[in-house]
Amino acid sequence: MNLCVYPGSFDPVTLGHMDLIRRASGIYDRLIVAVGCNIGKKSTFPAETRLRMLRKCCESLENVEVDAFEGLTVQYALSRGARCVLRGLRTVSDFEFEQALALANRHLCPDVETVFLISSPQYSFLSSSVVREMAGYSQDLKGCVPEEIREEILSFFHEKTAGRF
Ligand code: ADP
Repeated sequence: MNLCVYPGSFDPVTLGHMDLIRRASGIYDRLIVAVGCNIGKKSTFPAETRLRMLRKCCESLENVEVDAFEGLTVQYALSRGARCVLRGLRTVSDFEFEQALALANRHLCPDVETVFLISSPQYSFLSSSVVREMAGYSQDLKGCVPEEIREEILSFFHEKTAGRF
């Protein structure tokens, strides 16, 4: 089976991530979207929430599984029997970062290849941090995150910022 792992923080999942997931699910027999839960890496949304939101958004994609992992991506990929790791590229700065990461992963495990998909142009400005910034200032997030989770993200930030001013 042609299996691929798409690792990331998904803090929270955006339409840019979903675009990649949809496109990759059409290429591979099975795609595992893997939410990184390393203790040292701080996230805005708890791991369980990131996982739950992703599962909700991937429900209709039959060959997509959402899982959580801790530790090195390549070790996780091998443990799942995958020889392929997917990452996305939006900009030249993404390329520089992703190239270093891919080479480090190849050094660790030459059997696992990193493959890249270029962002669709309408999503190339989108990142989880842009979404968090917008939500923190009560923007409606339309066209930025999947509709299924838009309200949940907005309420999370609404509660977080309540009473701040
Ligand atoms: P990480 O902390 O591992 O970078 P992210 O959730 O920020 O986790 O991103 C996971 C992957 O998805 C990265 O390869 C990133 O470049 C890619 N990605 C994020 N947003 C987009 C987008 N709008 N279009 C294409 N790829 C994206």
